[in-house]
Amino acid sequence: MHRIKAIAAVLFFVFVAAVFLPLVVFDFNAADDYFPVVTLSDLGQVNRYETAAQTVGEFLEDMGITTALLDRVSYPADSPIYDGMDISVKRAVRFYVATDDNPPAPWVMRYGITVEDILLQVQNTYDTPFLYANDLTRKIETADVLRFQSWSTRYFTEVVEVPFEIIENYTGSVRSGRTHIRQRGATGEHEVTVNVVYIGGHEDSRTITDTVVISDPVYAIYDIGTAALGATTNTNASDFHYLRRLRLQATAYCACVVCTGKNPGDPWHGITASGRQVEHGIVAVDRDVIPLGTHLYVEGYGFAIAADTGGAIVGDKIDLFMYSHQDALRFGRRYLNVWVLS
Ligand SMILES: [Zn+2]
Repeated sequence: MHRIKAIAAVLFFVFVAAVFLPLVVFDFNAADDYFPVVTLSDLGQVNRYETAAQTVGEFLEDMGITTALLDRVSYPADSPIYDGMDISVKRAVRFYVATDDNPPAPWVMRYGITVEDILLQVQNTYDTPFLYANDLTRKIETADVLRFQSWSTRYFTEVVEVPFEIIENYTGSVRSGRTHIRQRGATGEHEVTVNVVYIGGHEDSRTITDTVVISDPVYAIYDIGTAALGATTNTNASDFHYLRRLRLQATAYCACVVCTGKNPGDPWHGITASGRQVEHGIVAVDRDVIPLGTHLYVEGYGFAIAADTGGAIVGDKIDLFMYSHQDALRFGRRYLNVWVLS
């Protein structure tokens, strides 16, 4: 019984071997009938090839593909070929670089280089910083024209004049039409540090980076008059200006024949010695004491102009025009302060 079992087992193994061994051998032989298929990318073309070549170098030689110094293949030449392999040839890029005012010059670099890589090389060549207006991380393509502009900066100091401000004070203390400079302005001086930026060899901007005050400007005050002839004001105000103050014996007159000797029908009626029509603010003086045309301020009477003369007005006297004979009479004769205005 045991012998029969042993024989059966042997027969079983012989059977298994007879059936499966030829399958294994057959399968092994079948593989030898096919070559590996590889994908080749070059010059924008992607193709699949069955190849008998053993290495990448042999494959490229078989395909008649040559590479220049800056071309790159995705595998070393001695890499063994396998089925499904992706082989790509990255050709060198030929492009142009222009700097400042220099025209574009041809460059050749390996594929994959970025604008920034070129920028660094240009900076090293010229030993100065350069600017690029667009995306620095972009990969360079054949026929690109890259334009770089040098960038440099310079500092210098200079003394500059600082203009003064003018404060305009419109005031009833000054006769309309006249301006009195109460305070003269003075320019200041600053020492400034200036930063000049040059782009592409040309000045691009100037910025003041530091200021040292040597002297500050002093502002000016202009008192600009608004007072009408005959208007009154406060003679103690700081913006009331005068050259000197006189003490004169004052009288008053009107345009009547009693006061002037001229009837209303007279062509010279109401016309002063200076040729001006009379009005409140016109005063008669001794032209040897106060020249005609002098601007005055008369205490209690207001802004006036010396525009008339009179036979009785000799020496330190003043005659004030009034509109009515009654007022002139009432005024009488009194001593008044009279300011000679500037
Ligand atoms: Zn009169």
